[in-house]
Amino acid sequence: MSELHDECGVFGIYKNDEDINIVDETYLALYALQHRGQIGAGIAINKGGNMVYYKDHGMIPEALPEFELNRLGTGNIALGHVKYSSGEAVDHENLAPLVMRYIKGQLAICMNGCLTNYHELRDELNQGAAIFQSNGDTEIVSYLIARARINSATIEDAVIEAVNKLKGAYAIALMSPSKLIAVRDPMGIRPLCLGKIGESFVFTSESCVFDSLGGEFIRDIEPGEMLVADEQGIHSYKFAESKKTALCLFEYVYFSRPDSVIDGVSVAKARQRAGKLLAQQHPVDADFVCGVPDCGIESAIGYSMESGIRYATGLIKNKYIGRAFNDRKKNNEYLMRIKLNALKHNVEGKRVIVIDDSILKGATSKHIVDLLKSAGAKEVHMRIASPMFMNPCYLTSDTTPKEDLIASRMSNDEICSYIGADSLGFLSPESLHEVAKECKLDFCDACFTGNYPVDITDTTRADKYSHKIKQ
Ligand code: SF4
Repeated sequence: MSELHDECGVFGIYKNDEDINIVDETYLALYALQHRGQIGAGIAINKGGNMVYYKDHGMIPEALPEFELNRLGTGNIALGHVKYSSGEAVDHENLAPLVMRYIKGQLAICMNGCLTNYHELRDELNQGAAIFQSNGDTEIVSYLIARARINSATIEDAVIEAVNKLKGAYAIALMSPSKLIAVRDPMGIRPLCLGKIGESFVFTSESCVFDSLGGEFIRDIEPGEMLVADEQGIHSYKFAESKKTALCLFEYVYFSRPDSVIDGVSVAKARQRAGKLLAQQHPVDADFVCGVPDCGIESAIGYSMESGIRYATGLIKNKYIGRAFNDRKKNNEYLMRIKLNALKHNVEGKRVIVIDDSILKGATSKHIVDLLKSAGAKEVHMRIASPMFMNPCYLTSDTTPKEDLIASRMSNDEICSYIGADSLGFLSPESLHEVAKECKLDFCDACFTGNYPVDITDTTRADKYSHKIKQ
């Protein structure tokens, strides 16, 4: 139950089947991507060059009510987005897709990721008298495309010129009046894949979407690749060759759904492997092993398989907490109590091993140990299916500063004592790469090791979201 904030999720569909409703398909896809963002959601529809959209705050049913979906009607291309951001002001303008009018008509765009040269690009655009509606990365990218389009022969050329100015992590989906386009950053930090529903082409963040829609996964989009869907089919353009790749390892630890396959590796399998490695590295005698829902479950199963200690449910998660509740109750401790409860019947009088995906600030882990002990657990041994999270991530939406990361200022034993566990063990940094060893890409593991795959010269990420206040 990571304290790291989720990623965003992107989806785009180019319709080639008469009988599918692309609004319905996009709506269902966003449900499958809901775990990547709960702050807001949006859908944009392209009706032969005329774009309409609806976006709002909240989880899918709150953000996209049926009467608004009906109002969108139907079209030939669609984009969808779920948003999570702890840093960006949660204004309507920061929700996506962003739909704009420019020299060639309309353009809609959404993205997952974070630009490390945001300030530089924004300052440059400001000097050209750009007028921003939002304070997010997506608008920067749309401006760059619009500017490049003035002298480009095609939208493809304009997008390539624009993304070659970007630094950082991004998975972008956009639609021009006649094309659907997807772009993955040169190091492949953020995931993005291609699939089909019937004969219609789909670009999306995770492969679980194809299972939900009864579609077919075709392949991952390569790092530095742009794919274009139009009436002739799919076209691939390699816009950048990077010497290194750096897929975010946290996709396997926490961001992605267990039923997704990211760059050739099943997320569920990677989590089970992490659990097995944890059992080898931090064995302990206990009555049963349980996982913190949702991301600790598969690792707990792996720990159980390797150790021979039976798996059982120790914690129950309330799955029905929407944004309205979050707004109403700002008190974190109260929120955690509603989100999670211990299963007293299983826990009472037992020695429990509890597996979680990560520890950031430590408050959630402390609460979990407290819950289990209050339910009568005799011993609570916490095991973490990732290494100590010691460094801020500048490549996701999260803005947790280093001083708030408990592992950056406390040892294993000190954290154990702080959270009140009987023992604590983290996966070793070396073995984390083992969990997804078949992956064809190298990894970013910077939050554990401090080795960032891109130059992080601007560490004032939080400032970038305060443009509105400054202005
Ligand atoms: S620093 Fe961590 S969370 Fe951020 S991209 Fe790298 S592996 Fe992922």
